[in-house]
Amino acid sequence: MTPTQKPLVSSKLNSEERDVLSHIRRYRLMQISGVTALGLAASLLVARNITTVIFALGLACLLVALILAFKHRVLASAYVLLGSMSAMLFALASTGAGLFDLAILGYPGLLIFAAILGSVGLFVSVMSFVIIQCVLLAWLTLQGVITPHIPTLSWPHVLFILVIFVITGFSVYLLVYDIKRLMLSLQRENAKVQKSRAKIQHLAHHDTLTNLPNRFYGEELFLQSLAASQQKQQSLALLFIDLDNFKPVNDAMGHAAGDNLLEQLTQRLSSSLQPEQHLIRFGGDEFLVLAPFSRDPGHLDLLADALIQQCASVFEILQTQVVVSASLGIAIAPKHGTEFKQLCRKADIAMYQAKEDGRNTYHYYDESLDKASDEKFRLLQLLRPAMNEQQFELYYQPMVTLDNGEITTVEALLRWPQSDGSMISPDRFIPLAESCGIINELGSWVIHQACIFCASLRQSGTSNLRVSVNLSVVQFKDGQLQNIVETALRKAGLPAEALELELTESLLIDDTDQIQKQLFELSQLGITIAIDDFGTGYSNLGYLRYFNATKLKIDRSFISSLCQSEQDETLVKAIVNMASSLGLRTVAEGIEDEATLNKLIDMGCDIGQGYYWSKPVPADELTILLENQ
Ligand code: C2E
Ligand code: CA
Ligand code: CA
Repeated sequence: MTPTQKPLVSSKLNSEERDVLSHIRRYRLMQISGVTALGLAASLLVARNITTVIFALGLACLLVALILAFKHRVLASAYVLLGSMSAMLFALASTGAGLFDLAILGYPGLLIFAAILGSVGLFVSVMSFVIIQCVLLAWLTLQGVITPHIPTLSWPHVLFILVIFVITGFSVYLLVYDIKRLMLSLQRENAKVQKSRAKIQHLAHHDTLTNLPNRFYGEELFLQSLAASQQKQQSLALLFIDLDNFKPVNDAMGHAAGDNLLEQLTQRLSSSLQPEQHLIRFGGDEFLVLAPFSRDPGHLDLLADALIQQCASVFEILQTQVVVSASLGIAIAPKHGTEFKQLCRKADIAMYQAKEDGRNTYHYYDESLDKASDEKFRLLQLLRPAMNEQQFELYYQPMVTLDNGEITTVEALLRWPQSDGSMISPDRFIPLAESCGIINELGSWVIHQACIFCASLRQSGTSNLRVSVNLSVVQFKDGQLQNIVETALRKAGLPAEALELELTESLLIDDTDQIQKQLFELSQLGITIAIDDFGTGYSNLGYLRYFNATKLKIDRSFISSLCQSEQDETLVKAIVNMASSLGLRTVAEGIEDEATLNKLIDMGCDIGQGYYWSKPVPADELTILLENQ
């Protein structure tokens, strides 16, 4: 069929469907031509006179139509079939009983053929042809051109009627059969389309790894849950979960392991939820939980605890036991807002507070957090200019050997003085400097300054004095640390033994191989390594030896309550004993009074640091302090 011809059934067919349709038409054409030819042949047997000639001509035309169909000339074949048949019927009627001739019975059959075989054009042509022929027959009869003679009934007439009915019935059957088949295949197609539409919908709404609702669908679920909870006069909590140390798992064990952990975690978190609560994958290692609740927020504490617990239990991945933890922030609708994005932001801020609270915990949003985050942003803007204008200063705090009261080492501590005379504490600006990368420059400046200061003190008398410098984990990332330290020592003319580096315990947990290698090389130079804030992280003492540490600084939180808490006393005693059995020296940070000092001396602690002797002081004050010693 040429593209300009409209098929009778549907106007929107693709080329494949058109091929199938044309194949069916050809097949039908051959069937109809065949059956009609058989009918004509049967009629020919009983026909007489002119009827015989007409039937013979009709039969010849049918054979031509068959041959054309066979040769794939479907349209030509259809025209020949329908044209010759209508001409044959016209001839039979006009030579017989006119409009009352039996041949007229054949016209409906022709129309059905046209409907099955042809295009709209063919059908309309046949229809018009039939009408014209009937009108013409009537007119010719009325004009007296044709004289209809109604024959007396004979068996050949009955045969002829039967032949017409069989042929017409056969084509009606074919037509209905084709329509049914079409309907069935349409139904099937429709079911397929529905199914794939549902699948697309699901994919657009769910995360492929965990099959959890994604962030976009999460918003929809949030709106639904909010509406439902408002109807029941409930609140809706949005819990934002972020894994604390997922990246090292991904980096060290590969992404497949990371994916596996997320899948296991999804199972666990889902199992902790009620049917009306929803778990959503917000992105990477971030999840959201929507939890409607009535008045009692204690219920939320339990939920948050349960979720954190699920994250913190051991995962079995590639036959390795993996431990992560999660920090969780909670915002509540409508108390903190009713917009999804707004609540996500607030829960996110609360989650960061949970991280600052030491991770593996949760925090509720409140307005002060917003202020804190604005303040952070303000400070972040000020850091770079402060660095360029050298606004930072180093203060020094002595460490005292407990058995002889001598100052052997001073710890360099950063200060950021403000124009109004106040100081911004390093606890506030160091995490910011770490987050924006300025810590590398700042840290390098601290090392240089501390080395120069220590060298100058050694020259002016305190020849054994050592200086200790705090390091951030970020300073290990670019592999430049050793270079920086060596340059600083060389420029200051300070021997490596005079420098100590302080690392926090948590720093040793991330990316251990990298850090271990660099620490080994630094200790080869003669630099000593101290573990800072000991007791607040997770590492065990044996593990610390891998890092060539020679000193443990017991965290201030244990020392300050030493005289009040028996538990802390036991803990500090245990740390001192174990450290000494491993050949590590212990430093007690934050000694403020004599009672604490005496307790520590009794326990066998080696070194002390704290306000009892001196607060961190500027370089010139420390010089005086040393001179007075
Ligand atoms: P840190 O290394 O644990 O330093 C000891 C902190 O305890 C200092 O706080 C010190 O002032 C304080 N401290 C010492 N003795 C006492 C005491 O008897 N009582 C009380 N209440 N506090 C005492 P600071 O100077 O505010 O430093 C805070 C933290 O900032 C440091 O903790 C260290 O982690 C970080 N920091 C300071 N300077 C640097 C630096 O140059 N680089 C890096 N990466 N971190 C630094
Ligand atoms: Ca320190
Ligand atoms: Ca410390």
